[in-house]
Amino acid sequence: MDLTDQFSRPLRDLRISVTDRCNFRCPYCMPADIFGERYQFLPKPQLLSFEEITRLTRIIVRLGAVKLRLTGGEPLLRQDIERLVSMLDGIDGVDDLAMTTNAYLLPQKIDALKAAGLQRLTVSLDTLDDDIFRQMNGGRSGVKKVLEGIAAAEAAGFTPLKINCVVQRGVNDHTLVDLARFFKERGHILRFIEYMDVGNKNGWKMEQVVSGREIVERVDAAMPLEAIASNYFGEVARRYRYADGGGEIGVICSVTQPFCGSCTRMRLSPEGQIFTCLFAIEGASLRDPLRAGANDGELEDIIRGTWGDRIDRYSEIRSSLTEDARDRRKKVEMYHIGG
Ligand code: SAM
Ligand code: SF4
Ligand code: SF4
Repeated sequence: MDLTDQFSRPLRDLRISVTDRCNFRCPYCMPADIFGERYQFLPKPQLLSFEEITRLTRIIVRLGAVKLRLTGGEPLLRQDIERLVSMLDGIDGVDDLAMTTNAYLLPQKIDALKAAGLQRLTVSLDTLDDDIFRQMNGGRSGVKKVLEGIAAAEAAGFTPLKINCVVQRGVNDHTLVDLARFFKERGHILRFIEYMDVGNKNGWKMEQVVSGREIVERVDAAMPLEAIASNYFGEVARRYRYADGGGEIGVICSVTQPFCGSCTRMRLSPEGQIFTCLFAIEGASLRDPLRAGANDGELEDIIRGTWGDRIDRYSEIRSSLTEDARDRRKKVEMYHIGG
């Protein structure tokens, strides 16, 4: 029988965070004043090896996961990441093997990723305005570098791309229509993400969230949109197509229209903990038993137990928590489990 959690949700997706490091310092994820020169990232021996990741993934796929996504931190910072891609590509039962990246290192990596079997790419880009973009990545990159990464992905045949844009009121929300027009012309699928209170370090305030509804209204006013059905159960983005037939966008309304009821995602952290929610307080370690000699059956029991006990629905209860209760909740950081 299929593995399900306490709310009958199956396990379908696995997000694998391969590193807690990043070459950007997006203030909504890894603010530079906290993640500075002296910040202690995980030492290498604590990271799962590619062999360990592959072994755990194989078990999680046996338990129902069919979609894999590599993320981070910045996944392209993990040395020889293409080797992991090709190892994961060899697992029976995987329908989809994707990666989310800031694209900075994509031009030098894209051919190896393609050859290794990567199927799909999501690139994060919050605005086309260079000054605002620098502000939104902690001064680490101009827009041009990301566009070069996107061009490399196009040339390697990763089309259409998905483009993730985090929307923050008063920061980039006046540039959304330009971004939409740009990717409409190029045939990529832009997905606007409501700014979330992930982790404990970004100083999130509800006033900074622009609702998906407002985003759709703004794009629709410039380029008319029509709602379309989701592709599959558990798809997080609400989809809209341009009325003139020129492509689609999505909005991920994790704050204003939560979708916990169909959340089928498990997350594996760089040091081998599994988390059952983006807003989890703690994870279950698979690395410790694995390195202590546990066999596959024993690891499977831990994963089954963790998913079987799952009652997470943070986004549905967020609005019922006081600001104080939200602040006291010590959540896992986004760069740790990769969004
Ligand atoms: N470094 C890669 C990247 O940025 O594409 C992968 C990891 S990043 C944590 C994954 C996604 O999470 C990115 O698209 C990023 O924009 C998004 N993200 C990070 N912090 C967020 C927040 N506070 N609210 C909404 N989305 C966020
Ligand atoms: Fe790095 Fe991605 Fe987080 Fe930005 S969102 S700091 S690129 S991990
Ligand atoms: Fe899934 Fe947790 Fe997000 Fe709800 S809040 S959709 S359970 S990750």
